[in-house]
Amino acid sequence: NDLASLMNVSVNDVIKVCLGLGMFVSINQRLDAEAITIIADEFGYDVEFLSAEDEDIEIEEEDSEEDLVERAPIVTIMGHVDHGKTSLLDFIRNSKVTAGEAGGITQHIGAYDVLTDTGKRITFLDTPGHEAFTAMRARGAKITDVVIIVVAADDDVMPQTKEALNHAQAASVPIVIAINKVDKPSANPDRIREQLAAINILVEEWGGKYQCQEISAKTGQGIPDLLEKVLLESELLELKANPDRRATGSVIEASLDKGRGYVATIMVQTGTLHVGDVMLAGSHYGRVKAMTDHRGKKMKTAGPSTPVQVLGLDGAPQAGDKFVVYETEREAREIASSRSQLQREQSMRTKKHITLDEIGRRLAIGSFKELNVIVKGDVDGSVEALSDSLLKLSTNEVQVNILSKGVGQISESDVLLASASDAIIIGFQVRPSANARRLAEQEQIDIRLYSIIYNAINEVKDAMEGMLAPTL
Ligand code: GDP
Repeated sequence: NDLASLMNVSVNDVIKVCLGLGMFVSINQRLDAEAITIIADEFGYDVEFLSAEDEDIEIEEEDSEEDLVERAPIVTIMGHVDHGKTSLLDFIRNSKVTAGEAGGITQHIGAYDVLTDTGKRITFLDTPGHEAFTAMRARGAKITDVVIIVVAADDDVMPQTKEALNHAQAASVPIVIAINKVDKPSANPDRIREQLAAINILVEEWGGKYQCQEISAKTGQGIPDLLEKVLLESELLELKANPDRRATGSVIEASLDKGRGYVATIMVQTGTLHVGDVMLAGSHYGRVKAMTDHRGKKMKTAGPSTPVQVLGLDGAPQAGDKFVVYETEREAREIASSRSQLQREQSMRTKKHITLDEIGRRLAIGSFKELNVIVKGDVDGSVEALSDSLLKLSTNEVQVNILSKGVGQISESDVLLASASDAIIIGFQVRPSANARRLAEQEQIDIRLYSIIYNAINEVKDAMEGMLAPTL
């Protein structure tokens, strides 16, 4: 009905076109973006989509080159469980509290920043692990500039090490390897370098492109060098931001505190946030009443790459939500309320991710260029064979990318990666865990299970040729 009135044609005509396209619709049907594009095209209209996010874009003035200044890199630490992620985060945080600030009790607020020995600032996200990293990315937040992958030298490159590498690579974020626990007599860093090389991660000492540092999160050995390597990697990125504009950034975490109301840790990514600013974060807004850093120190302003805890929002936004500062409370309130409404409407229909059945339709409207696939299987041999065959299905029109492949059950982490990167998951002789299945339903991720490699390849091939019979 809405679409018909926008195009100034009768609803019946629109419904007729839908039927012609094989869509059985009612007058109040909500149509997805692709359907709208195709139908509008039938009536000779071009469609331009605006989202609730576009209200942010309006105030996204272009920065001129001379307004940009260097900003600190934002770093996430990932790696296998017990390899020392938390210890490394704790060591860096505790060793870098300068004398003047001692006494301030450091607290976990989701992120912290430190000054290195060479006087450069680095900001760390304080929730280790690739699940948090990818969950944020699934919500559209691009916060991390550099990833540190921790591997324990007394252990091996483990499944979660590989997963972490996959997740960082899928996000195109540069990686620095930290070989941890070298204080242990049983440490064997060369074995780790060798195992990394076996999965195509060749470290710099061995002629590869990955910077690597031996460290001990217990004694602190090597940590200053590790931080220098992170800085070197980030220099290549030429990270810059304009501090002289209204702040925007991302929500790291948020909660309700009994005494203080809603508390949100946010990362300022550009501009400067001031106490008293009106901010909109996701579908919540409010005037910033107070700001503190991770030592509980009060702050009046926070510039680019600075994590701060803010008080004053009227609710708890979600991790990964964007925040922006508005001139007036009225503006922010209006957008917050229209977003809440949109969220309510859309809560029934989650964002549409790619499915095999969808490929044909997306091909037809010419918007489909890449098919991202995650492959899980019961044994390494079949995972490799299947991945190789899928890669070979690439055509001039559609490139097949294997985002991640591995042996084992389909996990929540696979589903998160699929959601963040719009991928389908192919399982060979394996099944999703109960949690993965639930998450996949919620995120609408297409998981395909096969017990014959030939069938898997043929179905993907058919889908790419737009010939897959729809599953009803
Ligand atoms: P996470 O699961 O990756 O966060 O790992 P943790 O930081 O919790 O570390 C797991 C265990 O390894 C803990 O008992 C740490 O004390 C220990 N550990 C971490 N780093 C080192 C290190 O450099 N040397 C030694 N000897 N032990 C370490």
